[in-house]
Amino acid sequence: MWKNSQGTNTTIMTCNTHSLVRMLRITMRVHNETLFSFLMQLWTWRLHSRELDHALAIRMAHPSRWDYDPQPFLKLLGHAFYAAMVVMEPKLSSGQHIDLDSQLTRAEIVHVRCGYHSLRSWWDQIASKAPAYMHCPRCMNPERCSYVWRIRIQWLAQNDKIPFPKVDGIRRLQELHRLLAADSFLIKNMPEPCRHSALQELLKRKEHLLKTVHHHFDL
Ligand SMILES: [Zn+2]
Repeated sequence: MWKNSQGTNTTIMTCNTHSLVRMLRITMRVHNETLFSFLMQLWTWRLHSRELDHALAIRMAHPSRWDYDPQPFLKLLGHAFYAAMVVMEPKLSSGQHIDLDSQLTRAEIVHVRCGYHSLRSWWDQIASKAPAYMHCPRCMNPERCSYVWRIRIQWLAQNDKIPFPKVDGIRRLQELHRLLAADSFLIKNMPEPCRHSALQELLKRKEHLLKTVHHHFDL
């Protein structure tokens, strides 16, 4: 889902979870922010592709396991809760109990529920709206250009073209971007630089969510 920006170091890419955590500790200790952010990407990718079990990740990333500034680990923890929420989404959305067969503690389930409600209202109030963008100088009718962009996003949302639940904002934004980038209606009706900058705004929204996902889980 996320490309790694550091090339492909196969030793790191294929390391097991314990080695990954050990490397995270070392990079924290030596303040190597570039490597830390790469390892974090790897962690996130594994969680969202379900290579890394979310319950294990929640235990590993819990700030009580770390001797220093817990702040960066809250992000890792946020992604672990997000992955748990995606798995539990069918039960959460239909109001079923999730405590019985869950690997999570009651306190952890409270975080998952917080995230679920927060992300749902984030989608309804913010992410379902088309992002604003800068028009290029040759855009003759910015109002119409924005209108075209807006109605296309609404059309996709209303016609259920995005096969992920509202709370899975990361995948929804990714899919929305993919559909809009190939959309012939937009290609025909928006000047190319406007279309490009509108699509960039959508990517920025996804990047922002990736960086701030832990806030939704009350972390
Ligand atoms: Zn425009």
